[in-house]
Amino acid sequence: MTTPRFSRILLKLSGEALMGDGAFGIDPETVQRMAQEVKAAKDFGHQICLVIGGGNIFRGMAGAAKGMDRAQADYMGMLATVMNALAMQNALEQLGVQTRVQSAIQMDQVCEPVIRRRAVRHLEKGRIVIFAAGVGSPYFTTDSGAALRAAEMKCDALFKGTSVDGVYDSDPKTNADAVRFDTVSYTDVLAKDLRVMDASAIALCRDNAIPIVVFSIRERGNLANVLAGDGVSTIVE
Ligand code: UDP
Repeated sequence: MTTPRFSRILLKLSGEALMGDGAFGIDPETVQRMAQEVKAAKDFGHQICLVIGGGNIFRGMAGAAKGMDRAQADYMGMLATVMNALAMQNALEQLGVQTRVQSAIQMDQVCEPVIRRRAVRHLEKGRIVIFAAGVGSPYFTTDSGAALRAAEMKCDALFKGTSVDGVYDSDPKTNADAVRFDTVSYTDVLAKDLRVMDASAIALCRDNAIPIVVFSIRERGNLANVLAGDGVSTIVE
């Protein structure tokens, strides 16, 4: 077996990655497919920290736009990420992969609290650690949660699986002439507002020299390809 390029990675999946063809919620078949992709990466030798968003269930901004208190809505969004984490834990364990969920909002009956040193031990024992509830505070997103965990867990890279295959100079969904970058600097992402992740997540990765690999999670097998250095992606570094 060849040694992986990145020994410890943080994989961030948006909540939408669990939705399948539906418009909302969790599609168990899709979660199972995502779990297979994650298992393949683990079997290749990577230590994996996982962060899953909550946008398939609830986003605080959407609640606030409809008149809810922003902080209250954000807490609901964080709880949504815990549901996604539990769904992914279930799917991974059905494939025989050992996992632990650690939540930034303490929930003793369903998962562990975030304890960095314990999380490191889980990884060393071959378990996947799923970090839920983002940073545990409103006005943040799971992208910031992913950057924070990547930094404190000393991950070699942050892999962000989305519905597009990288970072473009304009929105490829509305502009057919949009050009994808192979690599782009943190500074350009921030200065040109390229919408890879929110600014606090980009800044945290920049300050801790964590490369961000943006790739599409929609195509089957793409995570393994990108981890192996093949496949289409953009690297922010
Ligand atoms: N959220 C939050 N603080 C965090 C992480 C998440 O308040 O540290 C809330 C926020 O309302 C966000 C929602 O949880 O909209 C779901 O997370 P996110 O939008 O990042 O999910 P994704 O877009 O990745 O599916």
